[in-house]
Amino acid sequence: MAFAPAPLAYGLNDLAPTFESSILDIHYNKHHAAYANNLNKLLEGSPLASFPLEQLVSNLAIVPEAIRTGVKRNAGQVYNHDLYWASLSPKGGGEPVGALADAITAEFGSYAAFREKFAAAAATQFGSGWAFLSVRNGKLEVSNAPNEESPLMNGGKPVLTLDVWEHAYYLQFQNRRPDFITAFWNLTNWANADQLYRKAAASSMGGGCCGGGCHG
Ligand code: MN
Repeated sequence: MAFAPAPLAYGLNDLAPTFESSILDIHYNKHHAAYANNLNKLLEGSPLASFPLEQLVSNLAIVPEAIRTGVKRNAGQVYNHDLYWASLSPKGGGEPVGALADAITAEFGSYAAFREKFAAAAATQFGSGWAFLSVRNGKLEVSNAPNEESPLMNGGKPVLTLDVWEHAYYLQFQNRRPDFITAFWNLTNWANADQLYRKAAASSMGGGCCGGGCHG
């Protein structure tokens, strides 16, 4: 089975007018799809082609060196984009929910303080990249990363991300990345982030997969 962008949980028009459909169409159907196609080409005939994407991105050392850079770039981008689309919802916005809401308050002091920190991470990422909210060692962490990098590549588990590559906003927001970041808060899919947070927090309390005899 080939790698492909995860199906969107909403239509290309459903985030408008906050995010226009033209930007989603090109971003999802062209940019994201191209990363998946490149990854499939690189892994053609390799047993790694049937690896779950998350396992591949978190274990890049297993990729043969000759294709490792290409696999890292494209698998990282497929994974980050899957999370990005899941970080948005036409019913999103508002404040964090569930266990994640409590963890955000515990870690950052308040939702407002978290939001400021995440927005700063997104705004100060120089050039192409991402802002992330992740779980690392059972704790929440805000970070940014260039290009295709992801906390998943170095022991973190992202639960929310914002794409700050120019292709994510330029058609609608031109050079105004801060306006794009502000608009993101109107679409943030907190229910999805909470679900990922609870899963990641539970697995880091269990001491990780390899020690506890879990399967898969
Ligand atoms: Mn993108």
